Amino acid sequence: MRRRREWPILKSPGEIEAMKEAGRVSALALRQVGKAAKPGVSTWELDLLAEEVIRSEGGVPAFKGYGGFPGSICASVNEQIVHGIPSKGTVLKEGDILSVDTGAIVDGWVGDNAWTYAIGEIDDDRRRLLEVTEACMWAGIDAARVGGRLGDIGYAVQSLAESCGLGVVREYVGHGVGRDMHEPPNVPNYGRRRTGMELCAGMVIAIEPMINLGTHKTKAMPDGWLVCTRDGKPSAHFEKTIAITEDGPVLLTVEPERRRPL
Ligand code: MG
Repeated sequence: MRRRREWPILKSPGEIEAMKEAGRVSALALRQVGKAAKPGVSTWELDLLAEEVIRSEGGVPAFKGYGGFPGSICASVNEQIVHGIPSKGTVLKEGDILSVDTGAIVDGWVGDNAWTYAIGEIDDDRRRLLEVTEACMWAGIDAARVGGRLGDIGYAVQSLAESCGLGVVREYVGHGVGRDMHEPPNVPNYGRRRTGMELCAGMVIAIEPMINLGTHKTKAMPDGWLVCTRDGKPSAHFEKTIAITEDGPVLLTVEPERRRPL
């Protein structure tokens, strides 16, 4: 989302528990789309699949109609960073990377998550981009601890990405999640340690590094949604919604059988 500045809406332990269902449905839809993403498949077909999974689990696609967005997923291929509109004309091919972002609303709570998938065999640069961007997400999640600050999350992401020679997108950032998909605060993927808002128990945030193989600079496309890298090099995007608790970060957008301790 675009940058804003406000205060977080804290969630009680019971509310965090309730958010796990929206998280589960979001994660299930994402994984099903990932399994179906193969050469010859269009992003439009993947969009239909995501909507079917979300609705069959009792949810509503969070993205559909959000700000007028037409899809249930954002599907962004190669140099596309985020917010790609699913389309019959976008057919995946061997060697592509595909960022899929899915969100579900269940019982009024939102789950928001993303993953970048390899389509068939991909080259070494893309493989490394995916590995490092996923690692950046985990580093950011691991820094989301009570008593820390927002800048600790951004620092964790940025320092890892830049140590690998990759570009960190500045214009689009993570965000609070709750009854709205985009709540305060912004969660930048760059920053300095011990700066920014203090992290406290009950904050629920989406941590979503967008990392480019080349320059961090972006280019907004004429459809008003799609964002691409300025230099045309590939970009990756991984996202999870987490709750900050006294016991550490808790993953919300995860299927229970895949839940892992941090
Ligand atoms: Mg998000």
